[in-house]
Amino acid sequence: MARPVVAIVGRPNVGKSTIFNRLIGDRLAIVEDKPGITRDRIYGISDWNGKSFSVIDTGGIEIDGEDMMLKSIRMQAELAIEEADVIVFMCDAKTGITLADEEVAQLLFRSGKPVVLAINKVDNIKKVEDTYEFYSLGFGDPIGISGSHGTGIGDLLDAIVNNLPDLIEEEYDEDVIKVALIGRPNVGKSSLVNAILGEERVIVSDVPGTTRDAIDTPFERDGQRYVIIDTAGMRKRGKVYENTEKYSVMRAMRAIERADVVLVVVNIEEGIIEQDKHIAGYAYEAGKASIFVVNKWDVVEKDDKTMKNFETKIKDHFLFMTYAPIVFLSAKTKQRLQKLLPVVKHVAQQHALRVQTHILNDVVSDAVASNAPPTDKGRRLRINYATQVATKPPTFVVFANDPELMHFSYERYLENKIRAAFDFEGTPIRIFTRRKS
Ligand code: GDP
Ligand code: GDP
Repeated sequence: MARPVVAIVGRPNVGKSTIFNRLIGDRLAIVEDKPGITRDRIYGISDWNGKSFSVIDTGGIEIDGEDMMLKSIRMQAELAIEEADVIVFMCDAKTGITLADEEVAQLLFRSGKPVVLAINKVDNIKKVEDTYEFYSLGFGDPIGISGSHGTGIGDLLDAIVNNLPDLIEEEYDEDVIKVALIGRPNVGKSSLVNAILGEERVIVSDVPGTTRDAIDTPFERDGQRYVIIDTAGMRKRGKVYENTEKYSVMRAMRAIERADVVLVVVNIEEGIIEQDKHIAGYAYEAGKASIFVVNKWDVVEKDDKTMKNFETKIKDHFLFMTYAPIVFLSAKTKQRLQKLLPVVKHVAQQHALRVQTHILNDVVSDAVASNAPPTDKGRRLRINYATQVATKPPTFVVFANDPELMHFSYERYLENKIRAAFDFEGTPIRIFTRRKS
């Protein structure tokens, strides 16, 4: 089931990134531990009262030109209107309402999207009257919050959750594999979509998505049904938007959330840059299966080491995604193109794989027998049993005497043993340790 998307919109310096960090809370810390994911992030996952949603900080979109600030926030607002289910419109109690706030308010108002009005920097509860003037923006009760003190965040989360769409209907049958292509501009995503579908079938038979203006392209190959998610997003806008990383990310997020398998397209000519890592990191974090597609295989001088060398490069750059297979191809000449869909099908199966509890427990017992769990201050982690609680991605709960004793490195060790026993190629795995009750 896709997660709803919540976007934070507002002028620079009202405290968007501060609140963003508060909303995604400890999740941040967990992900930041993983090597290869950078701190400069604008997307995260939040849970409140059992509801899960992704949050995007649209701040910091910058484009060149005069009155840049206004243009930038207008663009953020348009983005949020297009892509988000709920918009958090953030203002600043210390400055009051500005012209830019009014302009954004109009855009948001006209869109008809649910808007939660958050007034930041209400550092003193007694100063709640500072929020009253914001009633005039027309979004109902302003919620006074303080990013510095963390006050009002619960109220803000309540308001967000109350406005989330009840249920995002799954649009496709369970056996349809939903594929998203993500990557920087010009790596060849659109060319690859065309190549997969076959030149003769130019993408004109698009199926309009449900509620949003997403356009999906379903097709069938060798008896398996697939759908390429949101191909319109790739073509809709000009390069001004595309070149803005945050814009691409926001578009990509929506597609990632709806997909089973994410093709992370990179370009062998230009190699791997930081932006590729951000993008791949989102697929990892969203728990989707992933494949690295190294495009433009036709343009490089090749010898017998070219592939191996580039594979090593990818593994070094994406340490958190060593499970993802790598496919080299050329969208232009269609060299090696036929290798792609079988891999997509395989990783989709692994992503949905459910293993039998007794076999899982044999694997875990063997792992524990050959490498004793960690100890701390004389206490040793004792693992009682493990069970798979979910698929997409495969999620395991390990029951133990004291979850505090579980180390990241031991968790990694268990993950490797589970992978060795069951494959799980292309999919992230989640492991949680719980106290045996
Ligand atoms: P953004 O540009 O909207 O993402 O804003 P930031 O989150 O970067 O915050 C801008 C500035 O406001 C920083 O100096 C923050 O420390 C400060 N700030 C954020 N939240 C609060 C708050 O609740 N109260 C006060 N007084 N300052 C805050
Ligand atoms: P997107 O922005 O990621 O959708 O990239 P496009 O599909 O628009 O491709 C960007 C440019 O790269 C275009 O000029 C394509 O013709 C070219 N291109 C795409 N795939 C290949 C390829 O496999 N080999 C070569 N040589 N060029 C390619």
